[in-house]
Amino acid sequence: MPTYPPIFQFSQSSLQDFTECQRRFQLRYLLQQQWPAPIAEPIEEFEHADQLGRLFHLNVERYWLEVPLEHIPPSLLTWMGAFFDHPPQDLPGEIRRPEVRTSALVHGQRVTATFDLLAYEEDGRAVIVDWKTNHKKPMRSYLDRRLQTILYPLLLVLTAEQLIGFPLRPEDVTLVYWFANAPEEPEVFTYSQARFEQDMDYLGALFARIEAMTDDVWPLTPDVRKCRYCEFRSLCDRGREAGAVDELDDEAQFDIESAAEDQDEYVL
Ligand code: SF4
Repeated sequence: MPTYPPIFQFSQSSLQDFTECQRRFQLRYLLQQQWPAPIAEPIEEFEHADQLGRLFHLNVERYWLEVPLEHIPPSLLTWMGAFFDHPPQDLPGEIRRPEVRTSALVHGQRVTATFDLLAYEEDGRAVIVDWKTNHKKPMRSYLDRRLQTILYPLLLVLTAEQLIGFPLRPEDVTLVYWFANAPEEPEVFTYSQARFEQDMDYLGALFARIEAMTDDVWPLTPDVRKCRYCEFRSLCDRGREAGAVDELDDEAQFDIESAAEDQDEYVL
């Protein structure tokens, strides 16, 4: 059975890491291994895109909190324009809460999530919106099997009463991925009791696999493509050079952005 650090909580990105590379999960979350290395090259370009994504989240949070938007840099104007011209449609009611953090015990494990936006009406529907600044949207089938798509609606159903003051059925919940570079093509995932049960079973099996890990060194992914954009590649002897920013595919970029979101607090 793994030894977890104090106050450890699972998240969509840590569980995603486990499904993609068990060694990465062990290094990043259990051993908390510091291994500074660029995620992608050129570093400046990668960091600029990363900063822009953070700034977009921050400005959208300010908007929902009705804090005046000031000094929007020119490089952010296109995305902010996309947000104002094509915001997510069909949001229920008038309650809009950005950066909503929640957590629940799932199969005995503490799991946490932060919703970029939670929109709901009293005793009605609720929509979780997640802002994405990927250069291109990934395939819907890829999004559908992401841990984020599995965890977010499930956690909202489990924690609705404490979070918003009334219970929600799975049928009341929707998850929307909104893309700054494709604002008119959000991906909408409606939820259901059947999906809730299926996802609970999936998470139960996933936690059982994690609990059964006993090796000192957990298995390295056989898919070496995942190592190109992993900071541990030299530690794992999977190469020294980071992958190129302009060769990041949609899925790798989505992975990196989702992991960064989990690690960040977008502080006003
Ligand atoms: S470099 Fe590859 S094998 Fe090592 S932790 Fe990263 S993804 Fe896993």
